[in-house]
Amino acid sequence: MAEIRDASLLKDACLVDGAWIKAASGEVIGVTNPADGTVVGVVPMLAPGEVERAIEAARRAQPEWAGLAAKARSAALRRWFELLVENADDLALIMTREQGKPLAEARGEILYAASFVEWFAEEAKRVYGDTIPAPQPNQRITVLRQPVGVTAAITPWNFPAAMITRKAAPALAAGCTMIVRPAELTPLTALALGVLAERAGIPAGVLQIVTGPAREIGKVLTESETVRKLSFTGSTEVGRLLMAQCAPTIKKLSLELGGNAPFIVFDDADLDAAVAGAMLSKYRNAGQTCVCANRILVQRGVKDAFAQKLAAEVGKLRVGEGTEPGVEIGPLINEAALDKVEAHVRDALAKGARLLCGGERRDGCYFAPTVLTDATPEMMVAREETFGPMAPIFTFEEEAEAIRMANDTIYGLAAYFYTRDHARMVRVSEALEYGMVGHNTGLISNEVAPFGGVKQSGLGREGSRYGIKDYLELKYVCSVV
Ligand code: ADP
Repeated sequence: MAEIRDASLLKDACLVDGAWIKAASGEVIGVTNPADGTVVGVVPMLAPGEVERAIEAARRAQPEWAGLAAKARSAALRRWFELLVENADDLALIMTREQGKPLAEARGEILYAASFVEWFAEEAKRVYGDTIPAPQPNQRITVLRQPVGVTAAITPWNFPAAMITRKAAPALAAGCTMIVRPAELTPLTALALGVLAERAGIPAGVLQIVTGPAREIGKVLTESETVRKLSFTGSTEVGRLLMAQCAPTIKKLSLELGGNAPFIVFDDADLDAAVAGAMLSKYRNAGQTCVCANRILVQRGVKDAFAQKLAAEVGKLRVGEGTEPGVEIGPLINEAALDKVEAHVRDALAKGARLLCGGERRDGCYFAPTVLTDATPEMMVAREETFGPMAPIFTFEEEAEAIRMANDTIYGLAAYFYTRDHARMVRVSEALEYGMVGHNTGLISNEVAPFGGVKQSGLGREGSRYGIKDYLELKYVCSVV
């Protein structure tokens, strides 16, 4: 079994004000490997007062960090990026042990996470203001972009590294400081990122990582008048709650919430390409991504052919512990995740769906990769995110019906469609009420494009040249000369 080469990346303490601290109470949270339930580490259960210390440190550190030349902030981020890449193997192993995803995917996520740090190290130098022609001859109007100030991030367990760097890198590039509270299920990857940030020379208080109880820490971060912005990735339900908690202090918010992604296959599609896209979109991270295809909508003429091809590919997927070579589907994160997938499968079968492959839980935290056909809008899978390795196939007759079905949800994160017809490509991409659309592809995330949703999938965009704007305020200066 692979071993972590640099044991100093494994931390059982939080990064607060440049020091690695444990909870004064001595309390810890155990971190388990979803593949076998073994404990792979412990992290501090910080108390609210200890998180308040981090907020205070972030407040003190922020003016000096923002006062550096952009080039100096850029250089520190660049060093962090290089260290992430150099340590990708160790970071991937830490991630697989606490999250379960196959090692190759974990390594892919580390490089993806690092790409945001590289990108925003570059963007740090390109925060431009404006001059505006004034209505009076003696006026001069300038617009400055200044950092929002102290910011906080609450992140989920499905992408333990990338969901942190996608927030922290633009925040730091802009001159903000950030306190990150990672998911309690995957804090070890977050702490390892903190070790490397410190090693890269990011000063005390600029990036801090706090672990502990979600609700209590969420309350401290949202109620603080010092924290000027919260960036959250997670469920729509918790997003709503945090948005309400941020209302009294009128905090800025970035929310990246749930999705219910349609994956539409038109009868003029390249079916093999569509199957390959569906495999990537649906089964990556065992179906536990917010942009995962949740509903596969296939035009009647190609439905049976597509379903057979997809089921044949899905049947070949190798399920097992993420550290085993060749494994493509790891365990789900916990029992609750298995219960949800099982409930969706049972409900669909009870309402008339047909099982083409999989459908059952396996020993441990595994669910057999599943394909169902003849799904209908009455089924749970039509409304809720399954967040597991199960693809339900719905049938439609014509383009307008596919668009209606695709948009019939409170969510609006990612959508995918396959067609070889150019006019249809234009019509459909304009009609889909989603923040991101993949045409003839099942994989759309990268650091250069704006990631985010519409409707109840969220607010703001991450990555791209738009991503840094969420960490900047505009200041208009009117000068009379
Ligand atoms: P997921 O389904 O991905 O676990 P959640 O929205 O439950 O989504 O969790 C996302 C993150 O939000 C996790 O770090 C979790 O611990 C945290 N979280 C959950 N509930 C709260 C809350 N009430 N306040 C603050 N953070 C929370």
